[in-house]
Amino acid sequence: MQVLVIGAGVVGLAVARGAACKGHEVIVAEAAGNIGTGISSRNSEVIHGGMYYATGTLRGRHCVRGRRMLYEFCAAHGVPHRKCGKLVVATNDAELEKIRTIEKQGRINEVEGLEMLGGNAARALEPELS
Ligand SMILES: Cc1cc2nc3c(=O)[nH]c(=O)nc-3n(C[C@H](O)[C@H](O)[C@H](O)COP(=O)(O)OP(=O)(O)OC[C@H]3O[C@@H](n4cnc5c(N)ncnc54)[C@H](O)[C@@H]3O)c2cc1C
Repeated sequence: MQVLVIGAGVVGLAVARGAACKGHEVIVAEAAGNIGTGISSRNSEVIHGGMYYATGTLRGRHCVRGRRMLYEFCAAHGVPHRKCGKLVVATNDAELEKIRTIEKQGRINEVEGLEMLGGNAARALEPELS
């Protein structure tokens, strides 16, 4: 069938590609002079882990699944990227409690590779930490 996608940001282009790969005739309509010049061109380029989002939310589900799919896509299509990991840092007891909550939520969201580190181990990864 004919598919009209409005907006050539990362979401619209991914939808358009998905439809085109399934054999549909796709038109992408973009108001700006070029593709990917909206919010997609200004983000921080982080591939998010997905440990923050509440249980059962679409964000929680899609962030983790989408991250795995994105790494696969990048590897398969030679898209340069770094899988550098992320440090979530607590500097006092109250923040430590928050980190435990994030870790628990991450495990519920099935985020892989979560690990609690002490200060020395964290500084070994990032010497600028204090
Ligand atoms: C400061 C900031 C940092 C971020 N950092 C990250 C990050 O590190 N990692 C991450 O995963 N996400 C990040 N995000 C979120 C991410 O950038 C957005 O979720 C994503 O880019 C949204 O893509 P989009 O295609 O929905 O929107 P857009 O990229 O804005 O695309 C929408 C397009 O639709 C066009 N359009 C709108 N209306 C019409 C119309 N009526 N007719 C035709 N065209 C139209 C616009 O011109 C635009 O090109 C960040 C967001 C911000 C604001």
